[in-house]
Amino acid sequence: MPELPEVETVKKSLVPYLKGQKIENVKIFFTGIIKQPTPILFKERIRGRTIVDLERRGKYLLFFLDGGLTLVIHLRMTGQLTVCSGDVPISKHTHLIFFLASQQEWRFTDVRKLGLVYLVPTGNWACIHGLNNLGYEPLAEEFTLQVLGELLRGRKGKIKPFLLDQSKIAGIGNIYADEILCQAGLHPERTINTLRTVEVAKLYRAIKLILKEAVVCRGTSLRDYVDGRGQKGNFQERLQVYGRKGEPCYECQTPLERIVVAGRGTVFCPRCQKLIPNG
Ligand SMILES: [Zn+2]
Repeated sequence: MPELPEVETVKKSLVPYLKGQKIENVKIFFTGIIKQPTPILFKERIRGRTIVDLERRGKYLLFFLDGGLTLVIHLRMTGQLTVCSGDVPISKHTHLIFFLASQQEWRFTDVRKLGLVYLVPTGNWACIHGLNNLGYEPLAEEFTLQVLGELLRGRKGKIKPFLLDQSKIAGIGNIYADEILCQAGLHPERTINTLRTVEVAKLYRAIKLILKEAVVCRGTSLRDYVDGRGQKGNFQERLQVYGRKGEPCYECQTPLERIVVAGRGTVFCPRCQKLIPNG
């Protein structure tokens, strides 16, 4: 699933093609992905709108349109947003095409059909579950070590589910949660209220470092993810634990283990990420 670095990369890659661009028409092949309003109203309202600006919040993409409307898209598992010329053959998984004044086509393609598309009055996120209660943007300045400390204070749960909770920190999914915990040297099942100050600081630095690096590498392409021009990312070459079950840890050569934490497959190094750390 595209996480913060992938969604950020998609946004950046789309800006030159979409910012200031007018949507002349839209064709919906699969109405099921339009969650709000009805497909007929969606078509009616979006036609002739200009995309004023683009923003990412957590794993959501926000396209601010003139006339006080915002197009909100969540890629979920396999969604792709690409801009291409009209001669590129349409895939059988393309569910939505926006015809731009530039004569190019902006297409939403999604093999699993789980993507979410909304057209709502700007700021009116109440109907978009998940967007209305998003937590901190981890790469924003506002997300300080102190903020992380406050979010963790008094919690009794395990650390990995906390990292995946979009209402606390927005944009981290299964890949980056595992990579962050490896970088921080923390076991994914570590109980939050046993973390020492020095470990919280390590976790904080790992969140910033891993996400920043992944954005620089333009995300992780393991399966479907591509940016707005159909280009893959590079961070898969830097993964330390995710998808490496049984392979040696790059740090200590111990075979990496896989466990299930809060229903999610989780890979970690049993030696570098001990549940009960020494001393
Ligand atoms: Zn190790």
